Amino acid sequence: IPVDPFDLVVIGGTGDLARRKILPALYRRFCAGQVPDDAQIIGAARTAMDDAGYRDFVGAALDEFAGAAGCEDRARFLSIIGYVTLDVLGDAGWTELAGRLGQDRVQAFYFSVGPSLFGPIAERLQTYGMAGPDTRIVVEKPFGRDLTSARALNTDLARHFDEGQIYRIDHYLGKETVQNLMAIRFGNMLFEPLWNSQYVDHIQITVAETVGVEGRGEYYERAGAMRDMVQNHLMQLLCLIAMEPPSKFDPDAVRDEKLKVIRALDPIAPEDVVRGQYLADGDRPGFREHVGNAESTTESFIALKVRISNWRWAGTPIYLRTGKRLRARTSEIDVVFKDTPHSIFGPEAGRHRNILTIRLQPNEGIDLGVTIKEPGPGGMRLVDVPLDMTFAQALGPDAKDVPDAYERLIMDVVRGNQTLFMRGDEVEAAWAWTDPVIAGWEEAGTAPIPYDTGSAGPEESLALMHRDGRRWREIR
Ligand code: NAD
Repeated sequence: IPVDPFDLVVIGGTGDLARRKILPALYRRFCAGQVPDDAQIIGAARTAMDDAGYRDFVGAALDEFAGAAGCEDRARFLSIIGYVTLDVLGDAGWTELAGRLGQDRVQAFYFSVGPSLFGPIAERLQTYGMAGPDTRIVVEKPFGRDLTSARALNTDLARHFDEGQIYRIDHYLGKETVQNLMAIRFGNMLFEPLWNSQYVDHIQITVAETVGVEGRGEYYERAGAMRDMVQNHLMQLLCLIAMEPPSKFDPDAVRDEKLKVIRALDPIAPEDVVRGQYLADGDRPGFREHVGNAESTTESFIALKVRISNWRWAGTPIYLRTGKRLRARTSEIDVVFKDTPHSIFGPEAGRHRNILTIRLQPNEGIDLGVTIKEPGPGGMRLVDVPLDMTFAQALGPDAKDVPDAYERLIMDVVRGNQTLFMRGDEVEAAWAWTDPVIAGWEEAGTAPIPYDTGSAGPEESLALMHRDGRRWREIR
């Protein structure tokens, strides 16, 4: 369904994120017939360039990053692209930008720049008359590096925009399976009655990457896995899996419930955290070489045992882990149900548990492990088999049209739907929980444990589970 004409300004339009994600996403939506021909997409950045120069730039970005997706009339897409040279910290260019914008239409400004520029951009949008009631602004991660800086950013933005105009992106929320998590929980009778500590033994959330921090060393050395991944992406997944049913699928109803989960998290004890750092592997440099600090104590891996103190989840821990240079690139959530109260098949039947796996990548889909009789004449032997549903299989040819996270989120901005964006108080609550965990290891002066490339992280993270008589699902 096409949206109404809009103007989208990508501030930082010549940057890496614009090239790799934002512009290809807009192109794919254009090809899907969703972006009208009289919409405008305007890049704005310091590099001096004219419209034609930027169209060439965008064309090259599409060649490189739009993949096989596309449509015959690429020239038509490029014709809605423009460019304004401006320095965010100066005054040149802003009047020209204001003059380019259409009347009576949604105007969205995507701040695809570092967070230190969010405040100055918001201020100039106001000064140059571009902060009207229909203006929307989109900000990228990292939204601060602790509670104090996140609060300062929220205050800076709130001077010029209402909360209802601010779209804080966490691209994990734009993933199809993540939204399916809500559909599965609240669209089926089957799961919700079992979704509590009476039936769920524990939950695991794993986001594993095979890449290191190549090229992002400087940023990553100051961030680490806790700030870069847990505070935002894993926390968002945790909220969606653990929240109470919202009364309706509406932005504030959903975000109110997520906020309650964050506020119910227990502080983390030092023995419930394992941090790691990847070692060099043959010719491939290790973490310390990548960040240019031979004594770095920043973590490229972290595993945590998290407890939620509320009626639904008391007694059911949630284990989180994320890291770089691990065995495989995979993201999944596993809901591990408890044993049946009594086995009528006797001890030799072994221990069997239902596990609901929600795969974010690769092969987005859902897999429910069920126990059945092993076929054959050998008596009542039990075996676990997957009731597997890969979306690509289940949905057939329609699956390839599923928009990627950025496509969905950008169109949600244009439509004015904030459900999949983080609210200011949510981000602050997440930092309020994260800060003491970081302070804990900083005060104790503990160093991350080295681990091998291609492993599942430090052995100690396995021990975090073994100690509780549990084990991580394999990273595969
Ligand atoms: P980048 O350095 O590649 O691009 C920055 C852009 O901002 C460039 O277009 C540059 O010209 C412009 N810019 C910088 N200072 C400016 C100024 N004073 N005036 C006008 N323009 C200015 O950065 P990036 O990788 O595209 O990242 C942008 C933001 O998105 C960052 O906050 C980053 O943390 C975040 N982010 C990036 C990625 C990614 O994949 N690259 C992923 C998630 C979040």
